[in-house]
Amino acid sequence: MAKQQRVVIVGGGVIGLLTAFNLAAQVEHVVLLDRSGVGQESSWAGGGIVSPLYPWRYNTAVTALAHWSQDFYPQLARRLLAETGLDPEVHTTGLYWLDLEDEAQALAWAKRQGRPLSTVDISDVERAVPVLGAGYSRAIYMAGVANVRNPRLVKSLRAALQAMPNVTIEEHCEVEGFIRKGEHILGVKTAQGERRGDQVVLAAGAWSGELLSSLGLELPVEPVKGQMILYKCAPDLLSSMVLAKGRYAIPRRDGHILIGSTLEYEGFDKTPTQSALESLKASAVELIPALADAQPVAHWAGLRPGSPEGIPYIGRVAGFEGLWLNCGHYRNGLVLAPASCHLFADLLLGREPIIDPRPYAPQGRI
Ligand SMILES: Cc1cc2nc3c(=O)[nH]c(=O)nc-3n(C[C@H](O)[C@H](O)[C@H](O)COP(=O)(O)OP(=O)(O)OC[C@H]3O[C@@H](n4cnc5c(N)ncnc54)[C@H](O)[C@@H]3O)c2cc1C
Repeated sequence: MAKQQRVVIVGGGVIGLLTAFNLAAQVEHVVLLDRSGVGQESSWAGGGIVSPLYPWRYNTAVTALAHWSQDFYPQLARRLLAETGLDPEVHTTGLYWLDLEDEAQALAWAKRQGRPLSTVDISDVERAVPVLGAGYSRAIYMAGVANVRNPRLVKSLRAALQAMPNVTIEEHCEVEGFIRKGEHILGVKTAQGERRGDQVVLAAGAWSGELLSSLGLELPVEPVKGQMILYKCAPDLLSSMVLAKGRYAIPRRDGHILIGSTLEYEGFDKTPTQSALESLKASAVELIPALADAQPVAHWAGLRPGSPEGIPYIGRVAGFEGLWLNCGHYRNGLVLAPASCHLFADLLLGREPIIDPRPYAPQGRI
């Protein structure tokens, strides 16, 4: 694609931000529009585990993106820290799954994929993670799994983009529809007027389907609410991520521990609820009994962009020249972001793609 292109990106979550970051050096101008502040929706609300929660339960299309990203994250974090002084804090702790019902499938998947997943004697887990609750009998462990401090990741991406002379970030600028001439998409209509571009990228997370419906397209991306709570503990209290019965604890470097998460189909309502608070607190105490004496310092909800099988839509929209999607990352948008946005840039710029793009193509799926 010619360098003198203007790209308009709708949505400034991790996907829109990283798409802009990957395109900026290759195109003339990038305009990133967000109806609130950038990075304040799902990409802020997530836990930041740099792995799908149960990687073996996903389609190979998700696995391919996850593995590419996992290898790339430390490098991305170093670059962002160097460019912005803001550290996304990629914290490699490993992850223990406790009393998993599909342990055999997990181990078989890991063997096929060459991932370092192994069974661990529960007494060894108790030694490695002394704060873990009693009553677990089996564990598997994957070394090398990290978590990223996602609120800082989006902050550092925003700062990196703000330093780029050919990137414009417009916050509090709601996109209301598309400027269309026949089969050509020429830009977007916003509350503040038109924003024209040669290419328009829809990266509006859970809201992407709503926007695309104005073109008569049905994108099966729906909001899936997730609630989390946060504790502040001593930095060395919890040394690894632990997961049991669908609930997990994530230690940050400074002693914050996140407990997540709920999975709720409540439309676009993201009000935190008392019942989820109680349930998350109970999970926290089951995983780490020492938290019984602590009170959460925060409780919030976010809306994941749910999609069939969690396979994101990455690529051009057939029938509409100049319209592209990068959305629908469901529970894995933080781990999948580096690969998804690199692949997206490959496709838009006509480069050799890092991985086979066909499973993510919108064509035939919307
Ligand atoms: C509780 C919870 C835990 C999670 N844990 C993890 C995890 O551990 N690991 C992981 O990989 N993923 C996790 N996720 C999932 C991850 O957060 C999402 O997949 C990811 O953030 C999606 O990024 P996004 O940029 O597509 O969406 P978002 O971050 O939601 O960004 C979309 C942006 O589009 C903007 N927008 C919407 N409509 C418009 C409009 N009309 N005009 C202009 N702007 C608009 C919004 O304001 C928003 O900023 C979790 C999510 C939740 C909720």
